[in-house]
Formats: sequence, structure tokens, C-alpha cells
Amino acid sequence: AMDSDLRARRALERDLRTAFAKEEFKLVYQPIVSLATNRVCAFEALLRWPHPEHGLIPPDKFIPVAEEIGLIVPITEWVLKTACAEARRWPQHIRVAVNLSPVQFRRRHPLQPIIHALAVSKLPANRLEVELTESVFLQAEKATVEALHELRAFGVRVAMDDFGTGYSALSYLRNFPFDKIKIDRSFINGLGQRDAEAIVELISRLGARLDMSTVAEGVETDEQLAKLRELGCSEAQGYLFSRPVPAA
Ligand code: C2E
Ligand code: MG
Ligand code: MG
Repeated sequence: AMDSDLRARRALERDLRTAFAKEEFKLVYQPIVSLATNRVCAFEALLRWPHPEHGLIPPDKFIPVAEEIGLIVPITEWVLKTACAEARRWPQHIRVAVNLSPVQFRRRHPLQPIIHALAVSKLPANRLEVELTESVFLQAEKATVEALHELRAFGVRVAMDDFGTGYSALSYLRNFPFDKIKIDRSFINGLGQRDAEAIVELISRLGARLDMSTVAEGVETDEQLAKLRELGCSEAQGYLFSRPVPAA
């Protein structure tokens, strides 16, 4: 059994490298809606891998492997370049959000690909948002915090993704000023239950007090949307508005 697992894993690594070389990856975009204006304010770029034999492989399956073999670095460069070039063609009030791997921040010049993508695409820095998960901060070295400050000074917005899961310490919000907090889908899913509602309300108020916008992830029903307005959340994203779709 171990032998066959290992072989499957090796095959996945090999296919990933081939897919990158052959430019088989695709980006899809999911709208984020402002609850104040009811208009789309941004699109999140999400990576897709249509495998020639196994069909669509979800990012949760292949990104961890790409991180382990270091391929996430060139993949992220490609994502940034593609998403910025795409966003340049959109109306000016619409931003694009890109997910960054924590691996990115363990390298020597973590901002270089971001600045490069902005320069090449001529997308203004304030139209780019980067989404980070708390794993970036787990081993928060001074260099990481400095890099993120530098990124914000440059005009790029920084969002904390999947907030409320894992170790999400409140101290991260103090040590690093985010522009945006994305409330994890599991809490939105739980709306209607007292505990989940209390948590969403707390995060929304906290965001407002700290001048950070709050985004509800995974909004699927009108009831959830109405509740989110009531609780003071500022933006929403989910299948209720649209699934992630190709740019066209
Ligand atoms: P994420 O950044 O939290 O992205 C949101 C995920 O929730 C996406 O899954 C999206 O399709 C899904 N989603 C959105 N609305 C709904 C909804 O209403 N209901 C449900 N059930 N799901 C919803 P996806 O595209 O499979 O991506 C999964 C994760 O993979 C992302 O979570 C992100 O962490 C990672 N990922 C995706 N693209 C990239 C990338 O380009 N770079 C890196 N480093 N990570 C990426
Ligand atoms: Mg995200
Ligand atoms: Mg998320």
C-alpha cells in the first residue's frame, strides 16, 4: 500500500511539473460584492488544473504538493502575472485578489514577483489585493512582517484569509495591520446558530473598530446574506452571487 501511495505521489509531482511547463493551469475568478453598494468590488483569482487524464484536480489537492517541491514559486509568478494583466482590462473600480502561499515568504525577495507583475501589467498597485493565511504568521519572522509593511506602503492591500480557523490569534491583528479580514466559510455555513452568529458579529465589529473591511466567504443563501448585513459585515463572496468563472 505504501509503495502504491508513493508511486501515485511521484506521478502527481511529475504531472504537475509537466502541467506547468505546458501551461495547463487556468485561472477562474469569483466576484466579491460590497454590501454597502451591492456592486462587485473585486474578483478573487483561483487556480484550476484540468488534468488531461484525471479531470479537474482541486487546488487543495495539488497546491500542498507544489509547495513541497518548490513549484509553487513559479506557479505564483504565473498567477500574479496573469491575474494582473486580466484585471488591467476591467473597470477601474474593480480590484483583483491573489492568494499567496506561505512558502513565498520564506524566500529571500518575497515581493519581487508582485512588483514585477504590477510593472509588466501596468495595473495600479491599489487594484491588487493579496490574501494570506495565518500560516504565514506562525513563524512570523521579522523579515515577513517587514515585507508585508513594505507591500502596503507600495499600495497593495493585504487580506487575512480563512480567519477564525486554525490558530488565528488576535495578536496577528495587532502586530500586523491588515486591510481586510476574510471570515471563514465554516462560520457563514453556521449562521442561524447562536455561536456562529456571535463569532461573525464579533469579527465584523472588530474589523470596523480596526478600520479593516470584513468579507464573508461562502455565502450561499439569501438568508445568510440578510443576516450578514444585520451583523455588520462589509463584503460578501459565494455561490449566491457566482461560482468562480473564466475571465471571459
Ligand atoms: P480560498 O482562498 O479560501 O478560496 C475560497 C474557496 O472557497 C474557493 O475554493 C472557492 O471556490 C470556494 N467557494 C467560494 N464560494 C463558495 C460557496 O459559496 N460555497 C462553497 N462550498 N465554496 C465556495 P477553491 O477554488 O477550491 O480553492 C481552495 C483553496 O485553494 C483557496 O481557498 C486557496 O487557499 C487555495 N488556492 C486557490 N488558488 C490559489 C492560488 O493561485 N495560489 C495559492 N497559493 N492558493 C490558491
Ligand atoms: Mg482566498
Ligand atoms: Mg478563504
